[in-house]
Amino acid sequence: MEAVDVVAVDHRRIIIIGSGPAGYTAAIYAARAGHQPLIITGGAPGGQMTTTGDVENYPGFAEPVQGFQLVTDMQAQAEKCGAQIEYDVIVDIDVEARPFRLKGEIGEWTADTIIIATGATARWLGVPGEAEFRGSGGVSACATCDGPFYKGKIVAVVGGGNTAVEEAIHLAGLCKEVHLIHRRDYLSAEKVLIERISRLPNVIFHWRCQINSIGSESENGKFVDHVNIVKVADDSMTKLVVDGVFVAIGHDPATTVLNGKVELDSAGYVKVAPGRTQTNVPGIFAAGDVADPHYRQAVTAAGMGCMAALDAERYLGELC
Ligand code: NDP
Repeated sequence: MEAVDVVAVDHRRIIIIGSGPAGYTAAIYAARAGHQPLIITGGAPGGQMTTTGDVENYPGFAEPVQGFQLVTDMQAQAEKCGAQIEYDVIVDIDVEARPFRLKGEIGEWTADTIIIATGATARWLGVPGEAEFRGSGGVSACATCDGPFYKGKIVAVVGGGNTAVEEAIHLAGLCKEVHLIHRRDYLSAEKVLIERISRLPNVIFHWRCQINSIGSESENGKFVDHVNIVKVADDSMTKLVVDGVFVAIGHDPATTVLNGKVELDSAGYVKVAPGRTQTNVPGIFAAGDVADPHYRQAVTAAGMGCMAALDAERYLGELC
């Protein structure tokens, strides 16, 4: 009889999918608890933080820290604690099998528990100038993160949902003027938010308008100083002087691989038990932006990463 090569699949007690603040924090806690977790980074190791400029709101840094530096340090800390990193993208998860089976583009693993920390990505307009000025150039998708850089200045917010209205309200407290640019003639945000924004004298509404391009006419051309907006009704163009643009047209949680396997909400976010990280599949936990349409901050993602590691540890304890 011919010998059959049996390829041993690497088994872990905890596998963490995703390498942003949620994933690395989960790894730090799981590693310190002696579980030798494996982090599978995904296609963009470090996640959204790697393209974030100055971070001023992550506790522990009296001076701004670069997002890339912060997440690189999180990785180093996780590795120092005993976590291992695998640069791969998970393409399939068998949630029926015990242990769970995970298939990557390169590797294959089994795990007693999985922590999903795959994050979400902001939707962008795709107009000229947007990509060029993203980060410290004046285009952002997070008013909580970048709003303080625009104190006393003029900004535009794009969108008409809850996020856009919340961001505009937040910015109105910091900025001289906030121009809300929306392609419809009504807002789809909650009534209470609409009432609140309607009372703000420094919010100017541009109904049925879309940003056509984002530009800079300054000498060095490094910072946004205007947007061109076009009226949907007649294609007429107006130039609006602004110092920054906040794009708030929604986020896409990275849950394609979980579709039909773990319960998601109507927007595609992983559903977790209230105040916990447990998904509908016992042994699978979720942390960070992938399970959080509301806060979306590095520090809240890190907090959820910690919660997920503690929840996974308790689950493993009950398995024994
Ligand atoms: P939404 O999908 O609710 O809104 C997106 C907005 O962006 C819409 O006004 C949409 O307009 C507009 N938009 C989309 N694409 C474009 C484009 N290419 N150009 C111009 N405008 C565009 O996203 P949100 O991030 O606001 O909310 C996501 C989810 O999170 C929602 O379920 C929301 O309720 C929830 N949320 C809840 C909060 C709360 O409870 N306080 C706070 C924040 C979010 P159009 O209608 O024309 O498509």
